[in-house]
Amino acid sequence: MSATTTRRRTAARSQAVGQSASRAISPVHYRIDASDTKAHTFRVTLTIPAPAAVQVVSLPVWIAGSYMVREFGRHLSRLQARQGRSVRPVRQLDKTTWQVDCQGAAALELQYEVYAFDTSVRTAFLSDSRGFFNNTSLCLRVHGREHQAHDLSLVGLPRGWEVATAMSTRPGRAGGLHWRAADYDELVDHPFELGAFWRGRFTVQGVEHELVVAGAWPGFDGDRLLRDSQRICEEHIRFWHGRRGKPPFERYVFMLNTVEDGYGGLEHRASTALIAARKDLPRRGDPALSDGYLTLLGLISHEYFHTWNVKRLKPAELCRIDHTRENYTEMLWFFEGFTSYYDDLALVRSGLIDGPRYLKLLAKTASAVQSMPGRAVQSVAQASFDAWNKYYRQDENTPNATISYYTKGAQVALCLDLTLRREGRGSLDAVMRHLWALGLERGSRCGTRDGLSPRRDPGSIGITEDDIAQALEAVGGRSFERELRHWVHGTAELPVADLLPVMGMAQQREPERLAAAWGLRVNEGPVTGCIVRQVLRRSAAEAAGLCAGDEILAVQGWRVRRLDDAAAWLAAAAAESTTDSAGRSRRDRSAPDPAVILLINRDQRILELTLRPDAAATRLTTLHWTLDEARAKADPAALQRRQAWWSASA
Ligand SMILES: [Zn+2]
Repeated sequence: MSATTTRRRTAARSQAVGQSASRAISPVHYRIDASDTKAHTFRVTLTIPAPAAVQVVSLPVWIAGSYMVREFGRHLSRLQARQGRSVRPVRQLDKTTWQVDCQGAAALELQYEVYAFDTSVRTAFLSDSRGFFNNTSLCLRVHGREHQAHDLSLVGLPRGWEVATAMSTRPGRAGGLHWRAADYDELVDHPFELGAFWRGRFTVQGVEHELVVAGAWPGFDGDRLLRDSQRICEEHIRFWHGRRGKPPFERYVFMLNTVEDGYGGLEHRASTALIAARKDLPRRGDPALSDGYLTLLGLISHEYFHTWNVKRLKPAELCRIDHTRENYTEMLWFFEGFTSYYDDLALVRSGLIDGPRYLKLLAKTASAVQSMPGRAVQSVAQASFDAWNKYYRQDENTPNATISYYTKGAQVALCLDLTLRREGRGSLDAVMRHLWALGLERGSRCGTRDGLSPRRDPGSIGITEDDIAQALEAVGGRSFERELRHWVHGTAELPVADLLPVMGMAQQREPERLAAAWGLRVNEGPVTGCIVRQVLRRSAAEAAGLCAGDEILAVQGWRVRRLDDAAAWLAAAAAESTTDSAGRSRRDRSAPDPAVILLINRDQRILELTLRPDAAATRLTTLHWTLDEARAKADPAALQRRQAWWSASA
């Protein structure tokens, strides 16, 4: 663009801004009535001052951070429109869009209901005990008004309920149930939690953090959860901004809903909605760090890290969200995978767990990748692009045809980090901070800072894979083009095991359970019996003809409800068949393991299948990573590298 054109456009824009300021149209306003808890229904009144002659409104079909078309419009009903006393006709244009023919400039009022009974963090929920909503589920987008302020008020809250949200209160209306977002994108980036929940606060670098917990058992140790969350937040803020830096938001809210069984989170610009099992909450008087509580801390760490990595640094393609359709990007391996790498790393850096516990978490991720034959089929870049109909629509074939951009993305991060540290030129931490600085330097590529604090919030910074490649080169002093090509766009194995000695660490394979050795995932228990969930490609189970959905009734003529029960007698039978009467081994080592006869129930028919265990076939792998102290002693540099890797960000 030439300089003259720029000047002309700037002039035109300021004229347009002046015009809209002089017209001073009032904000679009949503009045949300939460009183109908028994029908799980929010009643919404949307007021549009000075509507268009043909006013179009629509509900998003997806929510940012959860890459699936969810058709929120299917829960919207009874849409009516009026201007003053005049009822206006509403015409539905498609599954999620409506238009109203207006007369004159009188405010258009739309009334509708939204059914809300999904306990996930992605939509909305309302019952006698609790309420929650994302505005992607409740607030119709007013076409043509997206960039103006949006007001929201809550009415009809049951007695004793409180509200948690990171949205700013409406100017002059502090203390009431009135909020304001600078535009529609901000409106839908602030979920609301309603109810009589537990509430606590802590401060990091002068910034208030609020944590609310719904559904906790009596005896829940809220103080400990606050303390541990604070340590995680301190580590992340130090990571991005150094010892004295401030985060890019004025206030942050964690909304944790606890249920009997559940796990998940969704990141937002100044808050996160989380779901976890209530048994995983810490309990007063119990100082142990259970695996469940560790998983919860990992989730808190993950979503908080996203505040930088995906909510501000974001894929260039997602700078401007299209609420009407899939928004494709090949970069979730970076935004989800690298966030997954740093979520657990922050736990060891903040001192919440020790090295061996951290290695357990890393080995779990490595095992997950190794147990997906699909890693040879799909690259992490493809997995990102396909998130919409593959990662978010998993089925029995998922492990054979896909790889997770979370787990393999985290392993790519680990491989890059260990490679950079081995070469002694820097670390992945420096690469991340380089990208952040790059964004600050050149400003928002997404063309907007609307709704974000102008003081220290860079707004949306769209980055590309080229930016990542350049940051790696700037930090590492050489091109990482080959690594990105093979690790991100290829399907060859990552050199994880080869890199472990860099940090004085070693890898072992744990002995496999029966299902794992046969290449099966099963659901099993005394009531359900043993049901095949997934059959891995080129496994002994696949060769035997097992299918997802098969019920394994018996092994070698014995009824089983847990497959591992059969392991004991299969081992004994194998030993008997390979020893002579004097107990000496007569087994030919090259001979295959003896065949196993399985009795199967498939679609009401009883079948007999012959399974031949094969050491070379695909198996589910469990890896165990350890500190190799003998090696570390012999190689002090490895020990130093490991200490630098795990110490708190400075
Ligand atoms: Zn994530």
